[in-house]
Amino acid sequence: TPRIFSGIQPSGGLTLGNYLGALKRFVEKQNEGIETIYCLVDLHAITVWQDPEKLRAQTREAAAGFIAAGIDPKRSILFNQSQVPGHAQLAWIFNCVARMGWMGRMTQWKDKTAGKNAEAESLGLFAYPSLMAADILLYHATHVPVGEDQKQHLELTRDIAMKFNHDYKVDFFPVTEPVIEGAATRVMSLRDGSKKMSKSDPSDASRINLTDDADTIAQKFRKAKTDPEPLPETLDGLKDRPEAKNLVNIYAALSDATPEAVIAEFGGKGFGTFKPALADLAVARLAPIAGEMKRLMADPAEIDRILGDGAARADAIASPILRQTYDIVGMIRSR
Ligand code: ATP
Ligand code: MG
Repeated sequence: TPRIFSGIQPSGGLTLGNYLGALKRFVEKQNEGIETIYCLVDLHAITVWQDPEKLRAQTREAAAGFIAAGIDPKRSILFNQSQVPGHAQLAWIFNCVARMGWMGRMTQWKDKTAGKNAEAESLGLFAYPSLMAADILLYHATHVPVGEDQKQHLELTRDIAMKFNHDYKVDFFPVTEPVIEGAATRVMSLRDGSKKMSKSDPSDASRINLTDDADTIAQKFRKAKTDPEPLPETLDGLKDRPEAKNLVNIYAALSDATPEAVIAEFGGKGFGTFKPALADLAVARLAPIAGEMKRLMADPAEIDRILGDGAARADAIASPILRQTYDIVGMIRSR
């Protein structure tokens, strides 16, 4: 039976990229009746410095974002990673299974250290994919919905599962399937069509935040970098126009349409027409979520209660799998 696991880092506010590439699809999977486990990966967030009070606030805000977007904490398991100790415990075992060379080849590591002294980054940032493999395999999850940027980490998760099974001569960890679907699996920065939209980008103008108000959303789309040409009449015409393509994909994903349908409607029209239409659509889709988030965040104790309840249910699945892992590896457990 399929079991879905996925997570988002509370490393900042949720973006339109997180929403279209991940959260919106988490809700769809839940509503298909599949078992769904969703995690606010706070242990991942501290791979780069997070102010403790901000981290707590960001975690609650992300939880509110999940619920506002349609995650029902009764039907899905929703919790923060650090409340289930098995994530860190299994990650250590995987640190001893995975190879340094595998980590060094990860494009996220390369992107996040680009132009910096990698030697001065945290060891946790380097080992990030090992903890991510633990997140998924701790639940024997079969399917992991993510954005395109996480594809390589999921391949590594498969490599770790296979190497563990091979080294210990067991058939224990499943080989998980990435689920990368929809029109916006890689939403790009509004300032740079070659960079993905990220909540940790220093430029707030590069992204739409789920909590942005209508004016801010309209202004960010108006100022989004584009070329001067009108939209092409066919999808093919978007090939070498990354910024235009990005906006078309966002429009498609927000309206649950295909990029073809968007081009059929807006082909030949200029950005002076398309950008305001896109802003209106984004506001119509995001404003109700932002409103509901605000309402939920007014009661942080209730959010903490929901996360605690989710963590207890997650731990009930994780604990037996962790115990079996320790048995396989040869750890004595006599208490
Ligand atoms: P950070 O900059 O801190 O890494 P992030 O915006 O990349 O933040 P993550 O928490 O790393 O967000 O990723 C959460 C989920 O959102 C993952 O499934 C990831 O693939 C997806 N995602 C992140 N950015 C985008 C994007 N620009 N387009 C589509 N999906 C995205
Ligand atoms: Mg990221």
